[in-house]
Amino acid sequence: MEENKRRVVTRFAPAPTGSLHIGGARTALFNCLWARRNGGDFRLRFEDTDRARSSGQNETAILDDLRWLGIEPDGHIFRQSERAVIHSAALAELISRGSVYPCFCPAAETAGGKRVSAPHICRDLPKEESGRRVSNGEPHCFRFRIERGRAFKFTDRLRGVMTAPEDSIGDFTVARSDGSVTYLLAAVIDDHDMKVSCVIRGEEHLPNVPKQEMIYESMGWEKPEWVHIPMILDSERRKLSKRSGAMSVGEYRDRGWAPRALVSYLATLSWSAAPTDRLASTDELAAMFDLGEVARFSPVHDEKRMARFGKLYMAGLTDEYLAGECRGVFGKYAGETDKTLLVKEARAACSTVRELVRSVENELSLGSETFGGLGEDAPAWASELTERLASIPESEWRSDVIMSAIKSFASERSLKGREIFHPLRVLSTGNSRGAPIGIVLSCIGREETLARVSLKSPAKTRGVK
Ligand SMILES: [Zn+2]
Repeated sequence: MEENKRRVVTRFAPAPTGSLHIGGARTALFNCLWARRNGGDFRLRFEDTDRARSSGQNETAILDDLRWLGIEPDGHIFRQSERAVIHSAALAELISRGSVYPCFCPAAETAGGKRVSAPHICRDLPKEESGRRVSNGEPHCFRFRIERGRAFKFTDRLRGVMTAPEDSIGDFTVARSDGSVTYLLAAVIDDHDMKVSCVIRGEEHLPNVPKQEMIYESMGWEKPEWVHIPMILDSERRKLSKRSGAMSVGEYRDRGWAPRALVSYLATLSWSAAPTDRLASTDELAAMFDLGEVARFSPVHDEKRMARFGKLYMAGLTDEYLAGECRGVFGKYAGETDKTLLVKEARAACSTVRELVRSVENELSLGSETFGGLGEDAPAWASELTERLASIPESEWRSDVIMSAIKSFASERSLKGREIFHPLRVLSTGNSRGAPIGIVLSCIGREETLARVSLKSPAKTRGVK
């Protein structure tokens, strides 16, 4: 009940050690949508304490990618590295409350996440002794004094009440011997200071919850709601990684993806009610987003399904607009009349404008690789057909005129369709399939078509696709 009164504040907390990936973008999106849906704030925090691997360049790139997707953080951006003084103050508070104690064990003994069912050896050192050793400058970290024999119970929004076995959590480290606090503690302090009311993050953080809740309790702070969203898998149901193909937002951006298409696709990764038959902006998605509709099972990142969203985006663009986007390619050829017709044919298979440009380029340019499929021998009719096409004046060079010339030539020579159209396509473009050949030749232009069909444009000088 009290939760309802609390202002909804969510956060995305990436480490700026690389670029923004699909998984991180989906986490940021859900945080943003939930905050917007509730009229709350969506905050951004860079967890940049790994100074060797963090960079300002990565921060800028992550922020750019988020904004490009329409995921705009509210308020100023937190940087964990700028908060060392605040972290130390919170640690001092935990020390004064007796919630943590110094541990003098050599680093080797404290390393690793091994289960500790017995009380930690330094836990019960007499206060005077540990105080003396600390003031003598003996290296030490700090461990959290967990309540023994306590059942660790917490609630996750997607999973309900969860319990961790009693002996599964030992006195965990909250500060290192250099005085810096660990991730577990820093995240709690920062989330508290940022007034985060709802932590939406990847399910790999689930084991952190009992420990973080103990810190909240020791500090007397109000705990956030926990929402651990499932990991995104690749098509072979493995954790997403580089080998699954492109996965950074920047790569999709470079491939010409429209942000609306990408964001609409990301929304479907776990959100069962996300629209799949139309595109929506971040604002439109926020108006309907509900954490109650987020599924617990892992979604699969599937580029084929993703392409459907690209096609939805393409469907909103006219042939004329797309022909304009292809001007760089069309400009290399003389044909003027049938550009829009070619775009109409080529666009069906494309999920981005860039793919379409490539496809049009492929339709019109002459590759020599497939051309080899015809062998050295040009069809016997090549020079005669060239003459026939040459009889079409420049002003009449259109797909319908070209097609009727080819058809009447074929019928005079008693050539079946497959005896002329396929060889002609290979001859003139190097392709074995594509848009209707009349449209393609029209766009290539009269002079270039005649050179190609008559083989006066020799394969070795023809560009390789
Ligand atoms: Zn110890």
